[in-house]
Order: sequence, then C-alpha cells, then structure tokens
Amino acid sequence: MVEDCLFCKIVAGEVPATVVLSGADWLAFEDIGPKAPVHVLVVPKRHLADIGELGSDPAVAAAVVAGIGAVARHLGLSAYRTVFNTGAAAGQSVFHAHAHVLGGRDLGWPPG
Ligand code: 5GP
Ligand code: ZN
Repeated sequence: MVEDCLFCKIVAGEVPATVVLSGADWLAFEDIGPKAPVHVLVVPKRHLADIGELGSDPAVAAAVVAGIGAVARHLGLSAYRTVFNTGAAAGQSVFHAHAHVLGGRDLGWPPG
C-alpha cells in the first residue's frame, strides 16, 4: 500500500467503491465518472503505477487480464473496450495501474 494512493485506499477498503468482482490479486469497481453505460476499473491489489510497472509482475499482469475477462462475463458484455491510460498526457490521473472496461453501447472505432 502506498500512502496517498486513491486506488490503494479503495483496495484496502478505506475509500468506498462499488465493487463489481474481485480475485486474489485484482479488484474491479465502478468508475465514479462513467464514460459509457458500463465503466468498470480493474486494478491490481498490489501498487504498480502504470501498465509498464504492471508488466514487471507477470503473474499479477495475467491476473488483471483474467479479471477483465471475468468482469465482462459477469456483466454479460458481448463487446467492450479496455483502455490503460499511461502518463498524464494520455489522460492518466490516478497513478495506480487500472484498466478501464467500457461497454454497454456502440463504442465506435477508431475512437474520437
Ligand atoms: P485515468 O484518468 O487515470 O485513466 O482514470 C482514473 C479514473 O478514476 C477516472 O475515470 C475517474 O473517473 C476515476 N475515479 C477518480 N476518483 C475516483 C473515486 O474516488 N472512485 C472511483 N470509483 N473512481 C474514481
Ligand atoms: Zn496504489
């Protein structure tokens, strides 16, 4: 757990969140500002700052990917988009790795 990390606090139960599903190494909860009818964040329980750091722990990275699939099955999503924003210029605002799982509408491609 890293001090002053919002998602570490959510994992620890110190900040409330609407939990969707969890596994031994990952937690999925609803995004507080949804950008689609379904907008779930899947985070490693261990603090890793971004997808680059997540890749340094292959077991946890694999668990997060499995968690994304489990969330999609749990919510009955037949189509969804998974986004990892990396770096402030790409929109990352919380520096604890997280996958955005977006669905529930036609998302279009390429993104706008
Ligand atoms: P980023 O911008 O880092 O890719 O994504 C961070 C996401 O965290 C945003 O989509 C934002 O809406 C969400 N978020 C920020 N604060 C909270 C919070 O306190 N609780 C939850 N559930 N989501 C949050
Ligand atoms: Zn953290």
